[in-house]
Amino acid sequence: MARVILRDDDLSFRSSVEDLEPFFKAATCYDEVVLSFVPFPEHDSELGPNKSTYNTLLDNTELCEAVKKLISLNNVRIGMHGVRHSGYGEFSQSVPVPEISRGKKYLEEVFGVPVDTFTPPNNILSKENYFRLHQAGFKRIISAFSNWPHERPLTKDYILHFLKSAALALIKKKQNRVLGGVVFNGIYEIPSFVAYRESDLSLLIDSIIQSGGCSDCDVVIATHYWELWQTCPEALLKIPSRLREECL
Ligand SMILES: [Zn+2]
Repeated sequence: MARVILRDDDLSFRSSVEDLEPFFKAATCYDEVVLSFVPFPEHDSELGPNKSTYNTLLDNTELCEAVKKLISLNNVRIGMHGVRHSGYGEFSQSVPVPEISRGKKYLEEVFGVPVDTFTPPNNILSKENYFRLHQAGFKRIISAFSNWPHERPLTKDYILHFLKSAALALIKKKQNRVLGGVVFNGIYEIPSFVAYRESDLSLLIDSIIQSGGCSDCDVVIATHYWELWQTCPEALLKIPSRLREECL
């Protein structure tokens, strides 16, 4: 296993400083922590509870200061999670490049660091938007990958990935994802394993190992700060050490 990366989604101006507390510990357990923010206010979405009285990230100075402290830990990166996270499949629709670029630049200005990683809301991403992310300058997409060839560039690596994913789905082992990222046009796409519910936790380690988690591939664990980090943070913090023990 190369590295264990944590991806946490849905952070936005609605989040509070307390929501970020678990990530100070997470940064000591995971090789990398990607805090993925929604740059602009949403209209209807599936985001977590609104603990903020602010309307923009820039207004929420306490939150921004706490994020900057996390960034200073060196292995914490900022990702972008949609533009407004409006609706279930925001990135299944056409999202104009200037809108994507505006969100990216906004996060970069707010936090003072490059934002090169994109995590699609609900892990839904059309091929058109894949190319728009490239035009906007993103270098890494952390997704659940797609099982549909029309949603990604038709390159040898992607086709191989689709075939392997389809075979796993046919034998009802979809939870054993294909590990290993795919690089195309300077974008590195890497799949993630979700830890949203307690039931996910019980299967997680086995699924990763059966997926080939002892190989040299990065392993990404996807969470929401408003779910398991509130109820069983210790279990989430132990995932990297459990994986390292199993893979020795
Ligand atoms: Zn989300």
